[in-house]
Amino acid sequence: MNRPRPDHCQTHSVVIGAGIVGACTALALLREGHRVTILDPGAPGGEQAASYGNGCWLSPMSVIPPAVPGLWKKVPGFIADPLGPLAIRWTYLPRVLPWLARYLASGWTEQRVLRTAVALRALLRDAPAAHAALAEEAGVGALIERRGLMYIYPTRAEFEAEALAWRIRRQVGIEWLELPAEELRQREPALDRRYGFAALVEEGGHCRDPGAYVAALVALAEAQGARRVAARATGFRIEAGRLRAVRTEAGEIAADRAVISAGAQSKALARAAGDRLPLETERGYHAMIEDAPVGPRTPLMPSDGKMSITWTNRGLRCAGQVEIAGLDAAPNWRRAEILRDHLLRSFPGLPRDLPAERVRLWMGHRPSMPDGLPCIGPSAATSDVIHAFGHGHVGLVAAPRTARLVAQMLAGRPPETDQAPFSPRRFR
Ligand SMILES: Cc1cc2nc3c(=O)[nH]c(=O)nc-3n(C[C@H](O)[C@H](O)[C@H](O)COP(=O)(O)OP(=O)(O)OC[C@H]3O[C@@H](n4cnc5c(N)ncnc54)[C@H](O)[C@@H]3O)c2cc1C
Repeated sequence: MNRPRPDHCQTHSVVIGAGIVGACTALALLREGHRVTILDPGAPGGEQAASYGNGCWLSPMSVIPPAVPGLWKKVPGFIADPLGPLAIRWTYLPRVLPWLARYLASGWTEQRVLRTAVALRALLRDAPAAHAALAEEAGVGALIERRGLMYIYPTRAEFEAEALAWRIRRQVGIEWLELPAEELRQREPALDRRYGFAALVEEGGHCRDPGAYVAALVALAEAQGARRVAARATGFRIEAGRLRAVRTEAGEIAADRAVISAGAQSKALARAAGDRLPLETERGYHAMIEDAPVGPRTPLMPSDGKMSITWTNRGLRCAGQVEIAGLDAAPNWRRAEILRDHLLRSFPGLPRDLPAERVRLWMGHRPSMPDGLPCIGPSAATSDVIHAFGHGHVGLVAAPRTARLVAQMLAGRPPETDQAPFSPRRFR
């Protein structure tokens, strides 16, 4: 059991948002001896959060940002094909253009991609072990599995076509095993024969139920003394550069510190703390088959679908797709059906005549900064309010170290990894 440190006994910190980032942050602050309130109108681990429906990958090798050199050539296709793996709704295009320009610029050269990869590697390194320890402490150790993650390709040529990504992974210290067709088939007997090459990253892990995991972490925080308030934060009362209270729809909560970890909904809160930050939602989907009779032994990412296929306690989940259409547009369930169909094609042993109630579809919001790096650092209005959002495609895996960085910042200690690449100041 962690004992409060006396120097922080009086510090009351409000964590806004109980997704994976907020849950880990609440625990890290409790460990430092803060008095913690967790504020979220939704249930921790509920379907409203990206942390519920993601691909479950704890992938310390997810260091390549979505934008890579030459991506700009594909933009017309992203707009023309509403069902492609990356699509931009043309009605939303005028609003998202500035973000899109920064997004493409951040991956313009290999040097820039490498810079992002170095920063992400520092954030993600050892993450599966950190999650395993947290889950163990929360009494749900079985939710974290560490048996590697596998990228699969039709042939070695498709793997080699992604040479830039793998070259950069190697440069930042990521290792993998290359598996020819025969070995892949031995390891994954149920997988469709069109895949004949794989790269297995043994340091990767996965979570068998991210929603239940977040709920367990929040329950652990409550057991350690955190208070949970079911309300939406609307802003801050800041006087003479110090935080006095977090404003909510249900009134004010007096507070000394606050952490903005409201995922894709963090933009207005950041604005209330003095920062105009280019946070966008990269909407994503999952399709999940309950009681699937076959599936992968190791979580897989097929190169021809750019989605993850992972067993979860709720079913066989296929997650992916990027849709730029804003927070408010209705889901396009056709996109989730594309994932389902890909899953069926990847595992011929899955029944073709699945009744609708055995396939669950979900849409959620990746909180994405244009440069592929989260915002972790003090707000412009006061260093009492810390930004901890914008983790895009890696929020699940990145949460434990993000939480520790926030706790170290609030304690005035030097951060365990260079915080500069994540500083919100890079956009000021
Ligand atoms: C399809 C898909 C697949 C993905 N796959 C992976 C993966 O395999 N591995 C990985 O690491 N990442 C993955 N991600 C990304 C990851 O899920 C997110 O980066 C991460 O969940 C973000 O966590 P969060 O805590 O910042 O936000 P969320 O999980 O979205 O939580 C935010 C919380 O804030 C609350 N909130 C919102 N507004 C307010 C307010 N005003 N006041 C109080 N509370 C508020 C919400 O109710 C919510 O509970 C994926 C995402 C998607 C969509």
